[in-house]
Amino acid sequence: MTEDCLTIIDWEKEHSWHFMSDMESYFKDPCVIESARGSWLWDVEGKRYLDGNASMWTNTFGHQNKRINAAFLKQFHRLTHTTKVGRGHLPAVLLARKLSEATNHELSRVFITNNGSTANETAVKMSFQYWQLLGKEKKTKVLSMEGGHHGLSFGGLSIGDFKAVKDPFRHWCFESIQFSAPAENPESSLKELEDILKEKHQEIACLIMESGLQAVQGSGFSIQPPAYLKQIKRLCNEFEVHLILDEVFTGAGRLGTLFACQSEGVYPDFLSLGKGISAGYLPMGVTLTKASIYEAFKGKTFMHGHTYGGNPLTCAVALENIKMIEEFIETGAMQEQIEFFSSAFFETFKNHPNIKNLRHLGMTSAIELEPGIAMKVCNIARKNEVWIRPYKNSIFFVPPLNIKKEEILFLFNVTLSSINQAYEIQPQPN
Ligand SMILES: *Cc1c(COP(=O)(O)O)cnc(C)c1O
Repeated sequence: MTEDCLTIIDWEKEHSWHFMSDMESYFKDPCVIESARGSWLWDVEGKRYLDGNASMWTNTFGHQNKRINAAFLKQFHRLTHTTKVGRGHLPAVLLARKLSEATNHELSRVFITNNGSTANETAVKMSFQYWQLLGKEKKTKVLSMEGGHHGLSFGGLSIGDFKAVKDPFRHWCFESIQFSAPAENPESSLKELEDILKEKHQEIACLIMESGLQAVQGSGFSIQPPAYLKQIKRLCNEFEVHLILDEVFTGAGRLGTLFACQSEGVYPDFLSLGKGISAGYLPMGVTLTKASIYEAFKGKTFMHGHTYGGNPLTCAVALENIKMIEEFIETGAMQEQIEFFSSAFFETFKNHPNIKNLRHLGMTSAIELEPGIAMKVCNIARKNEVWIRPYKNSIFFVPPLNIKKEEILFLFNVTLSSINQAYEIQPQPN
């Protein structure tokens, strides 16, 4: 360790305030990342970590990816920023065309912002204004799924139901209505939704939910049953309520298709993208919507947007990323990767006496441990070069999509030995 790096750690302790972090316990063992390559991160002390949560679910094709870097640099030498107020720019047009094509032009209008929260807020505002424009002034409420996470801005908090982050600010949030998540009982979730819609559809503008799985519902990674989304879409159509699918986490190839809703053959009225859409390189939120919704705004202005929304560098990176996800799927590499990832996952963790539950979908998986142990396991794993994070009693695995096979094995094996160390169980010989 050099003196320089000690100074950096001191400054980190003196000045930094990280999001959603208990700073006091973090400062007992702070970590400042200096560089990254592929699925690996290096800190200022020269220690390396496998990026087991893809830098908070953003990184699709590894750090310092050659193709993404090249797309970035090509754009960097042409145009780094210009406004989208009253004019367009080349990479944003190319990205919009690509996204529209990727939905078979079902969602042909593209509004770009800075993050997942703003992607969702944009959709909700568009829905609100749409109904006002149609003279349905009473349609003002948002319906969302129990345990839904839609961002931490006030709009995101208001429409969401992620209690740990909402409770301190609940007083200042606007009200939204929740219906039960399908995890335990999809039939009763749909029945409850139908009853709410029957009674209140004239007051409800839109329903927002994550598609595929809900990251923070229940004990985490709550996977939706097949065909559930189709039923949601049917009910929204029947009761004239917009469907907003929040794919900030589950979109961008994470579940094996470019957009999660495509595996169910469903397109919503609004699709929100973030996190992995810009490859884990630059911040971005995208709201896709239908031509018919856009057309209702004819002669009107949608009074919304963010200064750096649709930044050219970000758009160029996102465009290359989407092309790479499509190729990954088309060549069969995605399917092969998912099969390896899931079989290694089940092989490693099945029948473990201290693991209560295994969940897997696409390039994500989660284990649920007994209460009070998950953070300890993550801390031990970190000492053994694996960076993973707990949520409640669960640990999530969300690596870059193209993580190497030996790295997948390393991720799971280090986690397994960390669990065993946390319980001080000796590994059993085969
Ligand atoms: C992360 C996340 C958000 C919020 O995105 P930010 O970029 O943090 O604002 C919204 N919805 C889901 C499903 C997410 O996972």
